[in-house]
Amino acid sequence: MSEPASPNLTGKAIAPPLPRRGLPPYTPAMQQWADDLYQLRSFPQHAVNVYLMGDVLVDAATRFDHRRILQQLRGHTVNAHALTHAHPDHQGSSHAVCEALGIPLWCGDADADAVENPRLIVDRLPKRLLNRTIAPIFGGPKHSVARRLREGDEVGGFTVIETPGHSAGHVSYWREHDRVLILGDVIANIDWLTFRPRLREAPKVFTIDPARNRESARRLAALEPALVCFGHGPPLKDTRKFVEFVSRLPT
Ligand SMILES: [Zn+2]
Repeated sequence: MSEPASPNLTGKAIAPPLPRRGLPPYTPAMQQWADDLYQLRSFPQHAVNVYLMGDVLVDAATRFDHRRILQQLRGHTVNAHALTHAHPDHQGSSHAVCEALGIPLWCGDADADAVENPRLIVDRLPKRLLNRTIAPIFGGPKHSVARRLREGDEVGGFTVIETPGHSAGHVSYWREHDRVLILGDVIANIDWLTFRPRLREAPKVFTIDPARNRESARRLAALEPALVCFGHGPPLKDTRKFVEFVSRLPT
């Protein structure tokens, strides 16, 4: 069985590790986008992204994704799991992955109590019917936070940048020397109708403070990243396209 090629992928695929007995015979390869930075495969590809950043797993998709995450991590060193933010499509499999691998969970300081008490995740989302109904379906169980991340912390060779707005404790990860940025949901790069790349703001229905999120986006654009990795949508290597999109956001 082979996986169909995706027109969106330009990164270098790495060979999948050998499958173990009793598990599915096919383990898809992660996609490498920079030194020590891999994007895990998903279906649809790029819809809900998980990254291996050095020895740190960044985000864990929904509660239905733990098998595909654990399969793809086989053969790789993973010493910690960090979140960009505590929303159901990012922390859904955090507990299962941390338990299976015996690794600690880290997240932004202001989101830590929501990771430890997922009822707060729903309470802190905008008061919309969609959030009350969907969030509990995709979100995962509670898990203790071993490290509360703050501005300037080092994680997997990247530096933490506090980027509140989509959630109170949203953080991004920045590597200065090759200007690689993982920005979670500050900006997305997907059209949810076609699943094709399209830069867009985080949807207001899921964003606690849209104005503050735009401030975070402007701060990230000022870095002029050479590679931007999103929570949703394929990575983008076009610095100017990203910077110009953010510059057009309303103030
Ligand atoms: Zn998301």
